[in-house]
Amino acid sequence: MPLSTRLCALSVALFGSASALAADIQFTSKLNEKTDALVVFQDSEQSNAFKFLDRDTRKQLNKAMEADKFSGDYGKVVEVLAPVDSKHQRILVVGLGERDELDSAKMAKLGGNLHAKLEQKEAATVSVAFKGVNGQLSNHELAAQYAHGANLRDHTFELYKKEPNTHSMTYNLSVDDQGQTQAEYTTLSHIEQGVFLARDLTSEVPTEMTPVDFANAAKQLEQYGVEVKILEPEQLKSLGMNALEGVGRGSKEGSRLVVAHYKGNNDTPIALVGKGITFDSGGYSIKTGKSIARMKSDMAGAAAVLGTVKAMALAKADVNVVAVMGMAANMVSENSIAPGDVLRTAEGLSVEILNTDAEGRLVLSDAMWYARTYYKPEVMVDLATLTGSKIRAVGNRYAAVFSDDEHLISEFTVAGKAVNEPLWRLPLGYKDMLKSDIADIANVGSGGPGATTAASFLQHFAGETRWLHIDIAGNALASSGKGEVSAGGTGFGVRLLSEWLLSN
Ligand SMILES: [Zn+2]
Repeated sequence: MPLSTRLCALSVALFGSASALAADIQFTSKLNEKTDALVVFQDSEQSNAFKFLDRDTRKQLNKAMEADKFSGDYGKVVEVLAPVDSKHQRILVVGLGERDELDSAKMAKLGGNLHAKLEQKEAATVSVAFKGVNGQLSNHELAAQYAHGANLRDHTFELYKKEPNTHSMTYNLSVDDQGQTQAEYTTLSHIEQGVFLARDLTSEVPTEMTPVDFANAAKQLEQYGVEVKILEPEQLKSLGMNALEGVGRGSKEGSRLVVAHYKGNNDTPIALVGKGITFDSGGYSIKTGKSIARMKSDMAGAAAVLGTVKAMALAKADVNVVAVMGMAANMVSENSIAPGDVLRTAEGLSVEILNTDAEGRLVLSDAMWYARTYYKPEVMVDLATLTGSKIRAVGNRYAAVFSDDEHLISEFTVAGKAVNEPLWRLPLGYKDMLKSDIADIANVGSGGPGATTAASFLQHFAGETRWLHIDIAGNALASSGKGEVSAGGTGFGVRLLSEWLLSN
């Protein structure tokens, strides 16, 4: 692509028109009766929230529910087309399941799935009868989560399509308390903006999302009061960050360290460290399988921590959070590092590169050192699409979490459940598997579980700081939409980190 087109595509991506228009969401006290579709709910105790409908319509719904053996199970839908006495083209009766099991995660997922269903039907206006709906959470929290799920599902990456999806939907949710619901949703909408940024950065193709492109995207956050710093290869070398610098050596632009700091208070900062391999060929230990075509997503950890900083800045949250992102393209050229090379990290430890495809831990080692040295964080959390071994261990529904800090593990596990980004703990404790004949440590283990030896490698660079590592391999790029997640970059981690930052 010529440079001018390229810059244009990039700026489109950064300013958001790469995506379909977001849904328009209104909370009201009165239901809009003139919309294309109406959504009403019923739980498994058969108590429903559509007593407001006229007698004939209710009769029609009840008959359809009976014919479909619908008993209010969570996520089940009965659809009635063109009800005789109604202005709506369709009414959807949606099962809520057991009320005492109805939480934020279930509601967001429901909002996402119903959005996809209504989008398929090309509904332009939708009323959702939320009045009287309660569960584990109050009416305003559940309604806000429903809208959150719908809007998250609405976002797709359309930049390369001849006919981008321009369909937009207007929602009218009638709720118990308009003001409280709006306030609740406003916070969630800031988190959405962070998720959308992370998704767009992840979905963008590798030659359009290099370390420099990513750094430019981070710069955009300055308008929200975020302090952004970018370190170039020469600066990395002079600070001794040779592991980060080395990984990017085979690419034209080289590596970058990108720092984005949102200081919402004067507390000791929380550091979020992200792996940002904008394309991972594997280097000379080149990847051979089909998975190489998904390797634009190897920067999803960096995208997620940057998205989280954006969310916190937009929300003007009372947190002090700094994202430190190690960015490089792991390419093959005569300048690339070779298997057998030794790189010295800023920490001082030398690393023998037994496999150039185990590069994520190298960029993270120096990024973690930088975060500790320059920000002395209270807690350091790193996010990385780190190992295939993690996918074999826990699949792509869970992210794997590693830490010796029981409090952090339990806080993050709770946060993950609340936002449908669940975590499964795997052990640390294989530091001794990283022996090298020539250097202090090797970058891959001589046997041992791969996700854990990678985490154990990182542990060398955590120092005395409270530290938690999240391996999001397999979570970053979805081949199809599901719940509140649309196909493409998922933004996995933004909601998890935001939930944890805002509730701890
Ligand atoms: Zn790799």
